[in-house]
Amino acid sequence: MNLPLVPNVITGEQIGEGGPQPLIVRNPATGEPLAEVAQADAAAIERAVQASDQAFRSWSELPLGRRAAVLFKLRELLVAATDELAAIISREQGKVLSDARGEVARGLEVVDFACGIPQLLKGEYSAQVAGGVDVVSWREPLGVTVGITPFNFPVMVPLWMAPMAIATGNSFILKPSPQDPSAAVALAKLWRSAGLPDGVFQVLQGGADVVNGLIEHHLVKAVSFVGSTPVARYIHRAAVAAGKRVQALGGAKNHAVVLADANAEFAADSVVAAAFGAAGQRCMALSIVLVEEAIADQFVERVVAKAKTVKVAAGVDPAADMGPMISALARDRAEEIVGSAEYVGARIVLDGRGLRPTGLEGGFFTGPTVLDAVRPDMRAYREEIFGPVLGVVRIKDLDEGIRLINDNPYGNGAALFTGSGEAARRFERAVHVGMIGVNVPIPVPVGFHSFGGWKDSLIGDFHIYGPEGVAFYTQAKVSTRRWPAPDHRPEASFNFTPRA
Ligand code: NAD
Repeated sequence: MNLPLVPNVITGEQIGEGGPQPLIVRNPATGEPLAEVAQADAAAIERAVQASDQAFRSWSELPLGRRAAVLFKLRELLVAATDELAAIISREQGKVLSDARGEVARGLEVVDFACGIPQLLKGEYSAQVAGGVDVVSWREPLGVTVGITPFNFPVMVPLWMAPMAIATGNSFILKPSPQDPSAAVALAKLWRSAGLPDGVFQVLQGGADVVNGLIEHHLVKAVSFVGSTPVARYIHRAAVAAGKRVQALGGAKNHAVVLADANAEFAADSVVAAAFGAAGQRCMALSIVLVEEAIADQFVERVVAKAKTVKVAAGVDPAADMGPMISALARDRAEEIVGSAEYVGARIVLDGRGLRPTGLEGGFFTGPTVLDAVRPDMRAYREEIFGPVLGVVRIKDLDEGIRLINDNPYGNGAALFTGSGEAARRFERAVHVGMIGVNVPIPVPVGFHSFGGWKDSLIGDFHIYGPEGVAFYTQAKVSTRRWPAPDHRPEASFNFTPRA
């Protein structure tokens, strides 16, 4: 079969040929091959990084207003291309079209924020810090920056990074997931149409070899990574050793606590949507619900009843609520963990294993699954399953819920469902996670706040996009200035003197 080749994008050119054997991209709804994706070799990496460095020199000198104009145009083009991007996402990643459109909209928020870059880069000025001396400080871009992104948000996660890197004056090379690589090429086209000079945004396709080539390159100054925790750790370690600035966002095991005073109907609906939306393949998906014992039986019944109504079909089917998982491997692992939980005492109260929608038997589907009586020592509790599996743990009270969340090595998000402001405030103050939802199941911050977890969910010092994105992609410079009058004759001192 002659499959289309998803290329690299280097200095505006699409380059597919040469390099190692291309990888196969599969349609997760059918299992069939959709395309091949190029893998950049060492020569392509060198070409892209050199071009990125060249492009950085002129892009970083461009007046702020002209940089902002490119962002405004990109915003317009992204809005117009939403359906086209959603179709690409859905075809390769598998999520439903409405969710894919939502992904584009969330990425767009970061572009909105980046459009305000002239305001965001305003420096600080202190007059007369000593006699005749003023101080001004401002931030400058770093140079060539790199983004390594996961399969689950092929548009949104690159848009968490590139608009911030580019608006602040850097050049950016995207290394997307080889499982759904076409969205990156579509984004490159949009940047170009928005008037971004060639070389400022480029795409290198492939896997670990490409990542290593980029991390080790002396011209690369900063690395943004989003993906699983083991890879985040590796990338953080390798990039820091190579002298780079790094932000490495990892995996998650997000808990929701449902208290007896919560609106139970609303909480159950929210938990089901957040557990099974995008087939559980969101870093902010709820995978564990901690329910107060007093309402647990009723709550589980509601969740199961609601989860049974989830329509599982190909993402491109407008009637679908939930699509397939990304690969047979990921699906088989999720189903195996469900089996292992039952073996050690969990109850499978809704079993999605083996679900194969008619006509899509080769797809990577598994249905919504609810495990009751989960314990923290079980694999289903400890590991990120990253599939449509919800574990229920019964708790005595809020304090037990907070303790479980804090004992968990991940710390991306946590949600609380309650009618009590006092409980909500206590929860917000006590939990060791980066993002909290109070009666909000998936608390992804809007584009003008920053996104990031704690503990094993983020390795590095900076959260992503928003104000922390500006800080990550820039370095501070301070100038202390004196302009003495021609007749001024002070004696220069050999000592640090008190400011006068
Ligand atoms: P992954 O870690 O397998 O891959 C992420 C990226 O790293 C890809 O571009 C991949 O090609 C590259 N990569 C994989 N192995 C590598 C290696 N050994 N060396 C160098 N590079 C390597 O993640 P994934 O399966 O694509 O995505 C799912 C994971 O991402 C989940 O763990 C999910 O929680 C996480 N995620 C986290 C966030 C967040 O904000 N914290 C957001 C989205 C996804």
